[in-house]
Order: sequence, then C-alpha cells, then structure tokens
Amino acid sequence: MVAGVVEKNLKEFIKRMPKVELHLHLEGSIRPQTALELMRRNDPSNAPINSYDVKKIYRFDDLSGFVQGMRNVSDNIQNLADLQQVTLELFHSLIEQNVQYVEYDCAVQKYIDLGFSLEEIVDALYRCSLEFPIKNRLKSNLIINLQRSHTPAKVSALVKQVAELDHPYIVGVGLSGDESSYPQGLFARAFQIAKQAGLHRTVHAGEAAGAASVWDALTQLHAERIDHGTRAIDDLKLVRYLQEHEIPLTQCLSSNINLNVVDGYENHPFGEFYKRGLCVTLNTDDPQVFGISLTQEFEIAAQYFDLDSDDLARIVLNGITASFENKQNKLFYHKRIEKELTFLENELRQEYVNEVSSI
Ligand SMILES: [Zn+2]
Repeated sequence: MVAGVVEKNLKEFIKRMPKVELHLHLEGSIRPQTALELMRRNDPSNAPINSYDVKKIYRFDDLSGFVQGMRNVSDNIQNLADLQQVTLELFHSLIEQNVQYVEYDCAVQKYIDLGFSLEEIVDALYRCSLEFPIKNRLKSNLIINLQRSHTPAKVSALVKQVAELDHPYIVGVGLSGDESSYPQGLFARAFQIAKQAGLHRTVHAGEAAGAASVWDALTQLHAERIDHGTRAIDDLKLVRYLQEHEIPLTQCLSSNINLNVVDGYENHPFGEFYKRGLCVTLNTDDPQVFGISLTQEFEIAAQYFDLDSDDLARIVLNGITASFENKQNKLFYHKRIEKELTFLENELRQEYVNEVSSI
C-alpha cells in the first residue's frame, strides 16, 4: 500500500489515480447532448429544441420520478448503433478519468422488446469494448440489468436466456428499481436460475427500503454484492454480518443525496462502513443524471470522511476485490493498480519537492 501523499496534492492524486467502477448503469450515462441527438434522429417531431430542454427530462422529485426520467431518456435508443454510441461515449469518459476496470449494466430487456436478440445486443456492446487499443487499459465487463418493474416471470425468462447465451462478456446479473414496491422475494426464482448457471449476482438493496431488504437480498436472492446497502447502517448486526462475510457494498454518495436516501454527505454512512472494515467501493450509479464523475465522488469522500491517499487507494483496490473477475485476473489488476498507485504517489512527492525547492 502506498504511504500518505501530501495533503496539498490529494486532488491531483485523485485525478490521476487508477480507478475502478462497479455500479454504473449504461442508461444513466447518456449525455444530455447525445439524448438530444438521438431524439432528433429517431423522433424529430417531438425532439426538444436544445439541450437545456433535454436537461429538464433528467429532473425528478423522487425515485419513481427518477426511474421515469431515465426511461424517457433511454427510450431514445432505438437501434444497436444508438446503443454503441452511448457505450463508446461512456468508455471515453471512463478512460479520461483513468478508470481501468469497469462493470456496467445494461437494461437489455428494453432492446429485446424492440426486436433485437440478446446475442445481438451483447455482441454490439462487446464490440465497443474492443474499439480501444490496449494502451487505454480499460477493461470492461457487462452485468445484465434486471428490472423489478417487470414481472418475475419475465425476469426469470431473461435470466434463462442469459444463462443459455453464456457470453464471455457477461459476468453476472443485477437487480435494480424500487425495492419498496417490488420486494426481493419476488425474484427468488430468477436468482436461483442465475446461481445454478454460475452467474454472479448483485442486488440493489438498502436504498429505497431499509436494512431488511439487504437481509432479503442475501438470504432470498443469494446476492454476492449489494448495490448501495446504505440503510444497512440502521442494523448493526447486519453491518457485522457484511463485514464478517466480506459482502461488498457498491456505494454511490451523490446518487443517495439526489434521491434523498441520505439528507447530506456529512450524514452518509460511507465513512462509518469504511471504518468498520467493510469492503466498500465508490461509484457514480448514473453519472449523467446526477451530473457527477467518479473523480468527483472520490473528492467528496476524501473531503467528508477525512480520507488520505492510503484510504483512497484501499477503496480503489476494494473494487478489484469486489469485482466479478476470476481470481487470476483479480490478482493481475490488483498488482498492476497497486504498483501504479505507488508510482503516482512517488511522482507527486517528487513534483512537490521540485516545486518547494524552486521557491
Ligand atoms: Zn444503481
């Protein structure tokens, strides 16, 4: 692990450090400008006049308004070329932030309903991942998004298709949506199929509902990872369980603030989870909807939870530990990122020494 970098350069350290993102929805990554472009292309008579009007679509008062807003934006993806456009833009943004490993999810059912096969959709996304030369160092894996608003039978049928396709780009399935209206138990069958097929499983829990929903995700859906898990803080027995069983929480600070899960960064339990030794990671959830980057999420965490470069490095490496990669690849990425973090800190320290000695 790297030693503490001088406080003065922490912002620079965050900007340049290698990063990992595990909780990222493709449909929440569509830039307003791109949404406008897609609307003009696919539905010109209803397209807003400018990107200011598009931004209004991203506004919401609560979780259901947010889900509807997301749907309105992503409804403009009408074909595989549109899907590839938003995916490539997302990858560019990740590369700019030195994100080296990402697991993102895609609401594939939406495109299946448009008439594309699961294989065509996954192949289209996979081809995007091959567009980048190896020097960019972005490794991506796909999680198939399962939506709670769909019937349990429809969700189970999709998981079956995913299992049958057995595509190397897919590492698992992830359930999202309003957990207070659609409890975890409804999807027990779908997750049983996923488990039997060897698919990794992540579940949104402890976001729109309390700690009990996290327990349900673990016991009824065999979740290996919890997306958010924020309200687990209300049940210290659960917090201990998550720590003892090394269940990672993919935390999204700005998302939780924007959707009123927590009433201010200073009251977010992230710092407490971290202090208690939980495997927590930092993520954006829906970067374009919340107007946030992963770099900014790390800056916010450093500021509100008094984290130094050692802490930030640990959180980045937690991302590799919590990923759905195989053991061998995890070891590879862990070593590479750790080495780069050490190198970066030495570089910043040297820059600082040079700067001071030149005064
Ligand atoms: Zn999410």
